[in-house]
Amino acid sequence: MTAFMEPFRIKSVEPIAFPTAAERRAALEAAGYNLFKIDADQITIDLLTDSGTGAMSAAQWSALLSGDESYAGARSFRRFESVVRDLTGFAEVLPVHQGRAAERLVLSALLKPGQASVSNTHFDTTRAHVELAGGKAVDLPAPDGGNIDLVRLRASFATEDVACVVLTVTNNGLGGKPVLMENIRATRAICDEFGVPLTLDAARFAENAYLITELEPEFTGHSPRKVAELMFRSADIIWASLKKDGIANIGGLVALNDPDLAARCRLELIAYEGFPTYGGLAGRDLDALAQGLLEVTEPSYLRYRAESARWFGEALRAVGMPVVEPVGLHAVYIDAGELLPGRNLPANALLAELYLEGGIRASELGTLAFGRVDPAGGPDIPSARELVRFCLPRRVYTRSHLEYVVEAAAAVVKRAEAIPGYRIVHQDPVMRHFTARLAPML
Ligand SMILES: *Cc1c(COP(=O)(O)O)cnc(C)c1O
Repeated sequence: MTAFMEPFRIKSVEPIAFPTAAERRAALEAAGYNLFKIDADQITIDLLTDSGTGAMSAAQWSALLSGDESYAGARSFRRFESVVRDLTGFAEVLPVHQGRAAERLVLSALLKPGQASVSNTHFDTTRAHVELAGGKAVDLPAPDGGNIDLVRLRASFATEDVACVVLTVTNNGLGGKPVLMENIRATRAICDEFGVPLTLDAARFAENAYLITELEPEFTGHSPRKVAELMFRSADIIWASLKKDGIANIGGLVALNDPDLAARCRLELIAYEGFPTYGGLAGRDLDALAQGLLEVTEPSYLRYRAESARWFGEALRAVGMPVVEPVGLHAVYIDAGELLPGRNLPANALLAELYLEGGIRASELGTLAFGRVDPAGGPDIPSARELVRFCLPRRVYTRSHLEYVVEAAAAVVKRAEAIPGYRIVHQDPVMRHFTARLAPML
């Protein structure tokens, strides 16, 4: 059999909203053409993010009911701790409410002002926590966009006071490409040579492991679970947002072996998150996460995830969308600058049309999110690329939902010539893409 299908049946259903064309136009105008400001009940297919949007399994829902809500030493924590220890090999396990809290614990303990964190690419919240700790975030991606550039990594020790090396697996900032085992091992050797810890930002560890089994001959035919175990055992410290490969709606973790560093992280944990056996989560969340971490490395699930993302990418390309290759596992990226040349804020223009056409929500990774405001008051310094990202929530949408998106995308491609550019009418000084108001340049 070569056809792929969802390796699950649907037991619990949630209705989808179908606002009319007039309702969509009104909602978009009221939101200042910013899809973050449209309520979810005005969205038909929501591909804004894969964070916290996954569907839990029957086993996870039943695990919720056995959650132990004791303040200290809950059974739920012990179950979570044991699953994380088996998976990662680390002795010290700290739960937190989401990924950025984990980053804060580790980076505030590791970095002294002026020191550098060197990475294949820091995710935006990671960069923020490096900078809040007084450090400097240095991104050294290799040309493939997943791995870290080993030559520049080695050279960075001569020019920076490096406190840690962070491998983001997969590399979310550059399209979800994997960090290969060969690169993890070589980075490990450089970290040993210079005596600095290797940390993994492991939000999509299972997807990274699956891609390693596809791309590295040494791991052909290996189980993604075994590869993930090996990835974790190559690092000194890991942190993760479990809203991605934990397949739950909230959660995160820190895991490591160093008892002194763990003790320092725990003090911060108590001050900001809660007692160390719940870390800002309910006991039931820890049970759902423990179960999700067992399910996410199942080969049939990962294969379906890879094949549905690739099918979606090919179908969008076939109707004329400039799809960025190669397509990863968690998202498909469109080059809006190529589809809408000469238009201002082309990614926002494409997002607005997709919403008007079919109530589809995706996100912008272009000048609104990454461009910089010229301090001298001139036009914005644009981002290198103008991308639209269709993110794929885990186990939520079927192929027919994605076919609907492809049909809407085809209609948008046909009228591409007539699509206007957009201008910013209001923006805030930080994270402007969440709150900006835009207007079409008619
Ligand atoms: C989502 C994400 C984070 C931040 O996690 P939150 O749970 O959103 O706080 C950090 N790093 C990577 C690679 C992520 O994808």
